[in-house]
Amino acid sequence: MRFWSTAERIRPWASGKSLGKRPGSNRAAFFSPAETLLLEIHNIYKHFGGIHAVEDASFTIEQGSITGLIGPNGAGKTTLFNVIAGLYPADSGRVLFGGQDITGFAPHDLFAKGVLRTFQIAHEFSSLSVRENLMVVPGRQLGERLLDTWLRPARVKAEEITIGQRADEVIDFLQLNPVATELAGNLSGGQKKLLELGRTMMAEPKIVFLDEVGAGVNRTLLRTIGDSILRLNREQGYTFCMIEHDMDFISRLCDPVIVMASGSVLAKGTAQEVMNNEAVIEAYLGTGRKHARERVT
Ligand code: ATP
Repeated sequence: MRFWSTAERIRPWASGKSLGKRPGSNRAAFFSPAETLLLEIHNIYKHFGGIHAVEDASFTIEQGSITGLIGPNGAGKTTLFNVIAGLYPADSGRVLFGGQDITGFAPHDLFAKGVLRTFQIAHEFSSLSVRENLMVVPGRQLGERLLDTWLRPARVKAEEITIGQRADEVIDFLQLNPVATELAGNLSGGQKKLLELGRTMMAEPKIVFLDEVGAGVNRTLLRTIGDSILRLNREQGYTFCMIEHDMDFISRLCDPVIVMASGSVLAKGTAQEVMNNEAVIEAYLGTGRKHARERVT
């Protein structure tokens, strides 16, 4: 297997390979095959005044997995995401990425490392088209510097063409072609979620944290979003960790599923395993549901 050059890992499309034809994942090349642990959460604590939002939470995320994070309201899922993504400092505990301690790294440093929480990519620019929204994601473009536009117009143009081609591949991949030239502000909620996924792809992350990507999306678009996530994972090696309340969505996409309750990790397993776990039924679904189930069975 040929490992990608550093330049290709940063901008894989610069090699001229299309999205669907990569010989392997640029993410797979980031770590040696023996290393499968991508992210490690060790004993994270985070409180707000008297509220212990996250309490001794620990788990690992395997490279190439789609890990689901579920739990009842107030379980601490979003707070933990925010700690990982550098938005909240942890009270204690550590986050390792590829073995490197990234605890407390600022969001832009994590972005540069390929750790991306979806809203680290600012929400869509409503007065730009879908294609333009994709094209503005890659940072440090030559055309952003006035001097380069004067002194190196050919290089600026070449880079713009390359990024445009990449945007077109992402549009094809997500089947956004019918709305490619539409202003993002005119998209439906579900289409905006797809665009958000597309903007994520433009950033070439190594791990993506999705926070309720399915919320408020109709069933048809939800299936398209789910299919896109599965293809990104299987065909291109993306690693995902997603908070989601829709158990059908979780069951279709995620393995493993981690359950949080009262700030801690309660269980980890397949969707089926955690749904059958008595402690999870007690904590996540509530004792009322458990007793109701017992009455039925
Ligand atoms: P949901 O599924 O409802 O989004 P969650 O599992 O994501 O819930 P968090 O949003 O992380 O849970 O909240 C965990 C606890 O921390 C809750 O009691 C919440 O009220 C509290 N909390 C979260 N953020 C803050 C904050 N910025 N200030 C004070 N308390 C907070």
